[in-house]
Amino acid sequence: MTRSGCRNTYSFQLGPFYSEIVSQLQSELNYDGPIFDAHTHAVDKGSLRLLVQIGQQHGVERTLLIPHIRRVRNYAEKKYPGRFFFAKYFSGSRLSTKGIAGVAREIEKLQDDGYQLAKIQNAPGMGRRVKAKPDRIRIGDESCTPIFAALVDNEIPLLLHMSDPDTYYASKYANGDVYDTKEEDLNELEAAVARHSDVRFQLAHFAAQPEMDRLSNLARWLDSYPNFIVDTASARWMVRELSRNPERSREFLIKYQDRVVFGTDCIAFFRFKWRFGSKNYYDSRYLALRLLLETDVRGMPLPFKDKDTTNTGGTLINGLSLPDRVLRKIYWENAVSFYGI
Ligand SMILES: [Zn+2]
Repeated sequence: MTRSGCRNTYSFQLGPFYSEIVSQLQSELNYDGPIFDAHTHAVDKGSLRLLVQIGQQHGVERTLLIPHIRRVRNYAEKKYPGRFFFAKYFSGSRLSTKGIAGVAREIEKLQDDGYQLAKIQNAPGMGRRVKAKPDRIRIGDESCTPIFAALVDNEIPLLLHMSDPDTYYASKYANGDVYDTKEEDLNELEAAVARHSDVRFQLAHFAAQPEMDRLSNLARWLDSYPNFIVDTASARWMVRELSRNPERSREFLIKYQDRVVFGTDCIAFFRFKWRFGSKNYYDSRYLALRLLLETDVRGMPLPFKDKDTTNTGGTLINGLSLPDRVLRKIYWENAVSFYGI
């Protein structure tokens, strides 16, 4: 996808020249097919218009949106008919308050309510999950079968977020009295995928295993369980880890080109306007992931701050320069066929 012989090393500092840098980087992006962003959120309708606008500038034609409240779902559909595919959001707290039977009941009527997917957010940091330990709902246990049976009966895929970056477990999740280890969380995730072979899973964030020393385990999962795909959501996490060994990452993505969908984890949230400036927030996420997947740049600073690497020199993008046919699958075809559109 990149122009031949174009390997650029960037040494610029991010800052006031951001827009200049962005326009310079745009010229590196040569994929011109459609993009399906398979992982976005809307907490409120505050900056949804910008999310759509910036997405369109990057070729995003369809989007999987996880509205955090029903009102936002209805607004998004009315305002942008046919653009969004909706995942009903079950946060860790909802899981605890509704209980297994309650969640299963909601899944039964999910399609009537206008959703096509279920999203379970059960990451370690979810407040209720922390408080409920050791009695929390364990997705991998047999007790959760009613949830999965409802998904199978209604042919609804499940987007599941179960674990987080290694950097979080080394810092904010380091207290073993409060948090499980990453290995325990991955074991629970694997148990769910293995136990429910007739459920179609979208495992968020590369199944929480984009770290180089975890890729072989993820490859084992992909070889063992045909019932899941992974998404590339979280530009910061994916870029940081997959750039560490671009040759290895490239080989991995080419090998599993049918099992990966593009996603950003961008969030439409009014408050973000004040915190990040929405335009830069969205643009920099699309840009970072596209530079990673499409180009062969080396040592390019991530166009926004990665707080996990501020003390170690920052996050650098090393592009994977994926072939056009692979990009087309990751950006579009895999999502279209997984969601059955
Ligand atoms: Zn997410």
